[in-house]
Amino acid sequence: MPRYDYICRVCGRRFERRQGFDDRPVVFCPSGHDNVRRLPSHPAIHFRGPGFYVTDSKRADHSSSR
Ligand SMILES: [Zn+2]
Repeated sequence: MPRYDYICRVCGRRFERRQGFDDRPVVFCPSGHDNVRRLPSHPAIHFRGPGFYVTDSKRADHSSSR
């Protein structure tokens, strides 16, 4: 399910919502304001917090000689 970033024009809070194709557009911010705007789906800044997982596909190359 695609995930979108929203920003509230009232309090300036930024939040994320998962949205399917059948869901209505998000109109309320978590604080209850009804003036939110959807941000572009590709934010320019990625925060790499502690929960960032690195899927390391590099493996130790065991070029064993047979
Ligand atoms: Zn708000």
